[in-house]
Amino acid sequence: MIQIPFIGKPCIETALGMMSGDTSGSKMRVVVVPLPAQGHLNQLLHFSRVIAQRGATVSFVATSTHIHQVRSRVEGWEFHKFDIHFEELPMPHLSGEELDAQSCHTFPIHLIPLFEAMEDQLGSHVDQLLRAICSENNNRVVIVYDSTMGWIQTAATKYSIPAYIFRPISAYYKIWSKRVSNETGGSSPFNISLKRCYPERLIKYLRRQRSLLGPAKGYIINTFSALESEFIRQGREELAYGGKPVWSVGSLLPRAFFNDERRLRLQVDTECMRWLDRQAPASVLYVSFGSISSLSVTQIRELADGLERSGQHFMWVLRISDGAHSSTEAQFDSACKFLEQGYGRRLEGRGLIVRNWAPQLDILFHKSTGGFLTHCGWNSTVESISAGVGMLTWPLHCDQFANSALITRELKAGVEVKEWENAEENEMVSAEEVEKAVKRLMTSEEGLQVRKRAQELRGSARKAVCDGGSSWKDMDSLLHHFSQSFSD
Ligand code: UDP
Repeated sequence: MIQIPFIGKPCIETALGMMSGDTSGSKMRVVVVPLPAQGHLNQLLHFSRVIAQRGATVSFVATSTHIHQVRSRVEGWEFHKFDIHFEELPMPHLSGEELDAQSCHTFPIHLIPLFEAMEDQLGSHVDQLLRAICSENNNRVVIVYDSTMGWIQTAATKYSIPAYIFRPISAYYKIWSKRVSNETGGSSPFNISLKRCYPERLIKYLRRQRSLLGPAKGYIINTFSALESEFIRQGREELAYGGKPVWSVGSLLPRAFFNDERRLRLQVDTECMRWLDRQAPASVLYVSFGSISSLSVTQIRELADGLERSGQHFMWVLRISDGAHSSTEAQFDSACKFLEQGYGRRLEGRGLIVRNWAPQLDILFHKSTGGFLTHCGWNSTVESISAGVGMLTWPLHCDQFANSALITRELKAGVEVKEWENAEENEMVSAEEVEKAVKRLMTSEEGLQVRKRAQELRGSARKAVCDGGSSWKDMDSLLHHFSQSFSD
């Protein structure tokens, strides 16, 4: 097992500025490069804030469109107060190819051409940017890039920039993804094949990225010891991290969220927050499928029906997924007309449908929120645990099936909407199943225990990021490693 050295509390600013024989006094620059999808942009922007808070100067690199997107969605902190510089890359040209409707996968396939075009077209822009940053900073530069952006390593190697890989997924998933085969569920606990989780074209893209990670110095994972200690240990022993050092630095949420006992309002008033204020403590089920996934029209209707039958209060984010085509938008809008008709009227006061971007962190940390029906994206999972909110799991693709198993079987902080083992593509969940599951989480004795367990985990999440906590120490160790990387 790799031991992570702990260097004592402060000296981080010193470490970042003056170590490795540097006497110029110039600070180290940390270049951070996310994959252009909200779940990834978000984690790496939070990571940037945490290291900026500890004395680093950060260059956050993404296309102008995605920089605008992630900045406009920041919650609980103001990025202009931190030493974070946003470096814009041009948006690559997208061919506008027709994606094969027959091969429709639950994964939002419209995103894949963007990932590929970034790799194909932006290499020289990244090269130029890194060259300029190295020369402005006396070569005191390290780079942290998303594990799904392996092509960034090429330019990092060219300029001898020490590189670190940021893995925006659970340690649990990392272990199972090594064991699961393409066609079958292999020895995964949920019997889901890779093919079910990812479209083939994305598997190809991801395998290519993975093949480029070799020269990087280590892995940064957005999880914390009390949440996944066993899986972090197994990951290290089974070489899931290639035998390299691993730092688990999560949760990366602003500390203000942990310090307020769920009473502090961090956002300006919005209609949905005022609505939550009027609800009883821990009475509302929050429903959201993240930023990039959509349900079919039939599924939306079943879900609507199930929520109504459950008799519970709920807030449902029903928005068009990021990057969807305008034809999809029009279809989606017309499919949702029923909400403005009888359904909306019947549910008045008990159910709120949010049609735009929702302030998810504020919602999860609000005292009225008592449960979260989630697609188990890794951000949503960590956010819910950090807020102490029990989950109802409804995974759709990628790592979400593993996260659902982690939440329900290992952590016992949630229950499945239905049994996901062997789940088929576009598996339909009926209104009856939704009704039953919602009642199970929100009203049963079992649900009460699950929600208690989530509250306990909230305590561990808080402890991990407080001074001297496991993630706090790993972050110290990581920053120390950054500064040492020049003397290797
Ligand atoms: N999110 C939000 N408002 C929304 C939808 C999503 O704030 O209306 C945030 C959510 O808090 C999380 C991220 O978007 O930080 C979604 O990431 P996740 O990994 O949960 O799912 P993905 O969108 O990547 O599938």
